Amino acid sequence: MALTLPDQIVRQEILALSAYHISPAQDMIKLDAMENPYQLPPFLNKEISRITADVCINRYPDPHATALKETLRTTLSIPAEMDIMLGNGSDEIIQIIMLAAAKPGAKLLTVEPGFAMFRMIATFTNLEYIGIPLRSDFSLDTDTMLTALRHHQPAITFLAYPNNPSGNLFDTGALEKIIEASPGLVVIDEAYHPFAGKSFIEKLADYPNLLVMRTLSKLGLAGLRLGLLSGRPEWLSQLEKLRLPYNINVITQLVATRVMQHYDVLQQQAEAIKQTRTRLQEFLATLKGVEAYPSDANFILFRLDDASRIFRQLQQRGILVKNLDNSHSLLKNCLRVTVGTPEESDYFCNTLQDLVGK
Ligand code: PMP
Repeated sequence: MALTLPDQIVRQEILALSAYHISPAQDMIKLDAMENPYQLPPFLNKEISRITADVCINRYPDPHATALKETLRTTLSIPAEMDIMLGNGSDEIIQIIMLAAAKPGAKLLTVEPGFAMFRMIATFTNLEYIGIPLRSDFSLDTDTMLTALRHHQPAITFLAYPNNPSGNLFDTGALEKIIEASPGLVVIDEAYHPFAGKSFIEKLADYPNLLVMRTLSKLGLAGLRLGLLSGRPEWLSQLEKLRLPYNINVITQLVATRVMQHYDVLQQQAEAIKQTRTRLQEFLATLKGVEAYPSDANFILFRLDDASRIFRQLQQRGILVKNLDNSHSLLKNCLRVTVGTPEESDYFCNTLQDLVGK
């Protein structure tokens, strides 16, 4: 039998990829992945135990997740004339959208620095990736974007609103110009909406080439893996063909439906996170040699001397943040910290002060 090696079979661009890195986090204060630091209140955990006690895991889940979608439509105010598609995390939705558009030579346009999975999934799906740099304050360079849209004619443009890793909301007027000038589909990724308030969902009716994506991950349900896409039926009916049957498992459907019926609990947690964010921003502003960027999300990007060393020292003291130093020219010496509980945040602040004071 001839010996076949992976590099003879696997596409060159996949061989060249490094897998998405997730740092080991056992016994660490985990401030690297934009999770909600709060657990559900005991009454809701009890309710979850009760409803999942006799769940039929021998059966496939509802392929259309009808009850869950109805609850999401109400709680997230999805307009009646728009459809909803669910994904196993919004990562899966990004993949579905890109797969659908991946004709030979088709392009995916986004901004840099941006969410790393846009580039990764463009590679998975064989889309040509175009990353347009943001300005040094991480705002959109509208003229460059408009020129790039004309020049590249991208099939899809992905924009996170607020942006990850910078944390800012882009200017609404600039985004509207981009949507209007786009020859293809524009997807606004509102993963951090619970901490920002502003949304393009109400604008779906105004733009035939617009889709809006959300996730429950940052809201407090990261472990369930549930993302959603909202948009016109003519788009979603095509994308639905690529969604694998039963992608939303029984437990996720059951638990997410019940928790979203208590949406106020998650909203209160998001409010608490926003208050801690304000305190964290105020503290970072007092630290000499630290430049923190404004955030409408549940994380803060900041720049300081010798960021990679500080990252390692934070790690040695049990704090895990995201090291973005060297990941992009605009992120030199940048770290990103997720807003945790007030206690976690205080510990982070004291430790950082200690380290930069030295
Ligand atoms: N979009 C953005 C902008 C993100 O930052 C993330 C998570 N880091 C996601 C999408 C993916 O979220 P999930 O797959 O957990 O829904």
